[in-house]
Amino acid sequence: MWAFGLDFESRTARELTLPDPRPPGWGEVLLRVEEAGVCGTDRELAAFRLGRPPEGELALAIGHEAVCRVLETGPGATRFAPGDWVVPSVRRTCSPACASCSRGRRDLCVSGGYLERGIFGLHGYCAEFAIDRESDLTPIPAGLADLAVLVEPLSIVEKAIASALRIHEPEAETGLVIGAGPVGLLAAMTLRLRGLRVAVHSLEPRGHPRARAVEQCGIEYHSARPPLADIVIEAAGTVQAGLLAIRSMRPLGVCAILGAPNASGPVPFMDLIVANQTVFGSVNASPADFERAVADLALFPSALLSGWIHRTGRNALSFTLLGEAGRYLKVVHRIGE
Ligand SMILES: [Zn+2]
Ligand SMILES: [Zn+2]
Repeated sequence: MWAFGLDFESRTARELTLPDPRPPGWGEVLLRVEEAGVCGTDRELAAFRLGRPPEGELALAIGHEAVCRVLETGPGATRFAPGDWVVPSVRRTCSPACASCSRGRRDLCVSGGYLERGIFGLHGYCAEFAIDRESDLTPIPAGLADLAVLVEPLSIVEKAIASALRIHEPEAETGLVIGAGPVGLLAAMTLRLRGLRVAVHSLEPRGHPRARAVEQCGIEYHSARPPLADIVIEAAGTVQAGLLAIRSMRPLGVCAILGAPNASGPVPFMDLIVANQTVFGSVNASPADFERAVADLALFPSALLSGWIHRTGRNALSFTLLGEAGRYLKVVHRIGE
């Protein structure tokens, strides 16, 4: 079958030919991949700064933001029927399973031995077909299929925001998101849905498509110093964003770091102590986060979200991954052409 990914021998991102899928086994489902979104992780993969092929293989099909339809169900798989729309999760348990993986929370894997579709040791969804256990799939109502490519990035946001709101006491009133990419926008909309007054900070000047996308959501945009907030979400993936996020908490504030890399710099330890503030990191998402993502997606203004998505053919994958980061918020490739 057709696939697209990384050839670790020649260190190029290119079309691959993978074996056609076997029939689905016990509890498994055969999927036809309809589309796959591209994010910063995919661009890191295409630059060979990240990623690992399946054991014993020399290539890795990428793609972890997927929307699929069920083609065939294996014996014992009763949750789905052919034609159903689904979004697969990304991470698979470590083996032997650690305490977190054993209790169904592989997003909290503590052994580091987990695998990730399209990233670490398992082929991803830039491939015509995929096989998954039905427990790794989240059902998507047909009416939401057009936006379902946002479910995986939104699941990351759901996990971080649920943790932040749980930690913050008393009830949080204000939210600040650093970064105006798809994850930042989804974080801002989710915080607002939870009843917070929200602002977004990013470096793009006013009038830039990303700044406009924030304002179109009815959310305050700041390219200069942002207001302090109870809940701060770093979604820009830079050291500066991480440090700014930590310094942008109100007393009792909670800050989630989602993308900033390791750095040395001024960390205001004493300020954190005196103001009872919390900083935490968050990665991946649990099955409940995926379900919350689907529920919230249905509540967001669909016309606005549709405007973030630019769909193109699968033959444009190398251009999207290796070319300049374009002006579109979310480039999505039609895989099942
Ligand atoms: Zn991604
Ligand atoms: Zn584990």
